[in-house]
This record gives sequence, C-alpha cells and structure tokens, in this order.
Amino acid sequence: MTAHSSQLDTNDPAPGSDGRLFGLDRDMLSACMATLGEPLWRGRQLAEAMYRQGVTEIGLVTTLSRTLRERLEAEGWSIGRPRIAQAFVSNDGTERYLVECTVPPVPAPAPIQTVETVWMPEGDGGETGDGTEAGELENGQALRARPRRDRATICVSSQIGCAVNCQFCLTAKLGLQRNLTAGEIAGQVVAVLDRHGVEIGKERVNLVFMGMGEPFLNYEHWIAAVRLLVNEVGISPQRMTVSTSGIVPGIERFAEEPPEMRPKLAISLNAPNDAVRSQIMPISRKWPIEAVVDAVRQVRLRPRERITFEYVLLGGITDGQEHAEEVARLVRHSGLPAKVNLIAWNPGPGIPYQMPQAAAVDRFRRALEADEVPVYLRRPRGRDIFAACGQLKRTVESARLETSSS
Ligand code: SF4
Repeated sequence: MTAHSSQLDTNDPAPGSDGRLFGLDRDMLSACMATLGEPLWRGRQLAEAMYRQGVTEIGLVTTLSRTLRERLEAEGWSIGRPRIAQAFVSNDGTERYLVECTVPPVPAPAPIQTVETVWMPEGDGGETGDGTEAGELENGQALRARPRRDRATICVSSQIGCAVNCQFCLTAKLGLQRNLTAGEIAGQVVAVLDRHGVEIGKERVNLVFMGMGEPFLNYEHWIAAVRLLVNEVGISPQRMTVSTSGIVPGIERFAEEPPEMRPKLAISLNAPNDAVRSQIMPISRKWPIEAVVDAVRQVRLRPRERITFEYVLLGGITDGQEHAEEVARLVRHSGLPAKVNLIAWNPGPGIPYQMPQAAAVDRFRRALEADEVPVYLRRPRGRDIFAACGQLKRTVESARLETSSS
C-alpha cells in the first residue's frame, strides 16, 4: 500500500495511508494505480465510482476488472466512505444523522467515532448559497417557482467536538476529540446525497460548514474536502458557505484561495462588541472583532458576494435594541458588503442561557432594517429531534454509555 504525497500537517496520516480510497482525488488515485502497474485512467474510473455513482465497496466498481478489484482488496484497500449510522427525522422534514467516521474494518485500536450532519430539505432561510437569497429573483425567475429541493442544505461537521469553547454551544462541551480528514468531511456530503438520491448536475444543493467543529482550525483537511466536493463531486463553491468563530490566521489563509474555488464566508459574530463577545466566545480575547474584520477585508469577493455575520440571539444578553444598533454600526463601519443572519438560540442541557422572546427577535431585526443592514432570520429546523448542534451526538452516546454500563 502506498502513502500519497500530501501538503497536510506533518502530524496527520498521509491520505490513503490507512487503506481508505475515499478522500483521495483523481490524481492521487491515478498515482495509486500507477504503483500497481495499472494505467493512470483507472484513477478516474475509481473517482467516478466513489464520488459520482456513490459506490461504497471496491467489489462493486464494475469499471475495474475483477482481478484488479480482488487485488486491491487483498492488499488492504477499501473505499471507506463515512456511513450514516443513525438518522433522526423531524416533523419539518429536517434529518439529523450520526455519521460514523471510521468505517469497519477499523485499524485496531481505532474506535468508531461519530459526527453530526444535517439535511434541511428547504434550507433554513439563511440563503441559497449562490449570492441570492431564498425567495429573491434570480435571472428574472422567482426561486420559489422552482422545485423546493433547490434550497436543500446540508450542514457539515469539520471536527469531532471543538476546542473553541463558545459558551452557548453544546459541541463545545465535547472538547476537541480530533480533526476530521478530507474524506470524512466530504464523505458526510456524499453519504447524504446518496441517501436522498440527489443527482449533482441535475439538482443543486447548498452546503454549510457550520456543523461540529471550527473549520479554520482544521484548515488543510477542510480545504482539501472543498476541492474534492468541487472537482470530484461537482458541487459549485458558490453554493457553499463556511462559518468561522473568527480564527484570524485561518481567514488570512482563506483570503489567499482563488475566489472561484472557495466557499463564501460567514463570521460567527454573536455579540455587538468585544466586552460581551469575550464572555460568550473566549476566542474574542485572542482575536478581537476589529482584527477579524481586518482579516475579512483581505478576502477578494466575487461579484454580488456578501460576507455573512451570523448572530445568535441570547435572551437578555445579546438581544437588546442597543445591541442591534451597535451591530448595525459595526457592519456599516466595516465597509464590507455584508448581511446579518439572526438565529434565535436553541436551548441545550447544562447551558445557562435563555431563548430570546419573539418580540425581542422582531425588534432586533427591525432595528437592523431601520439602519439599512440586510438581515435574515434563520428558521429553527428540527427542534423536535435535538435542536442544538452537538446535542444529538451527546444524547445518543450518553444513552449508549448508560445502556452498556447497566
Ligand atoms: S459554536 Fe462552533 S466554534 Fe463555537 S464551540 Fe460550537 S462548534 Fe466550536
């Protein structure tokens, strides 16, 4: 088995070194085939099978000869795509999954670990992902006249747990367990597309990297996953949005990516100033809002592209009219083409915050509108199936632990 060239951090295992083909792009797959004395185009056949046709076992890649399939399996290769281990379906159509990131047979003693991935068939009102908003006109045609699946959105995780420690977030309670590999990040998307029979090329979906973890603290794997999703799966980067808590070096690296190959950028702001933000997002002490905004200004935007400021409303803490006015000033003074996505906080066990009152949410939105700041209210999705990110994983895994220890 051959390890492949990689620009990943030196502590990370090289892609393919564990025998998993999923996560390798077609050049890596071709290089792998060459080491077996096979023609390079075998790599393209493997990529087509894994990323376009949803094949999950080498034995089912019928474009390869039986002899080659048997040889690959005998030498320890597997496709190893992440697998949806459990699905929870909401009354509103949202589906949340626990996705197994280490697919058996696992190299001992690696434990099977899971992350959460979410499918929202009608999005959450944030945006369509291509610079237009849900319900806006695009090329003179109302989006609402199209099949509703055009708004379907997959929320993708980038790490198991998270080290950023936002005080309102359940994922933070898990701590950082490990980074996901590119294959594990892209594999969540391909597994969900497969489950819903979505044909990329005929149908469009939006991706938001807003699940568990901080993508910019796993930058190399995350951007490698984006390249796989663009080049191999065929999803436009204009339909992808990455959200960061404000990791300045990550934003600076992101600013160096070619605009035509990178997702859109969202900043998880959540407070009107550093004093409030440091209390709920300790990362603000390391990188204050002004440093984050300075880094964002380095990003070359595509025509019509806007930066999104995500703002979680915590009842009595960040949802006041004065907070809204301060956010409006902050956005205007940034000089960035920007909009604000409001999210009413989802309660979670052990987190000492209150949901905002509906009237406060409305007042906040109207205050931003009065200052001519574009503002959208993200609809809560899947509240009946463990609303908060991280809650599903914690709930299910604690139940398993209790069952196994009883
Ligand atoms: S909100 Fe995002 S960055 Fe903050 S702790 Fe949760 S997963 Fe990490």
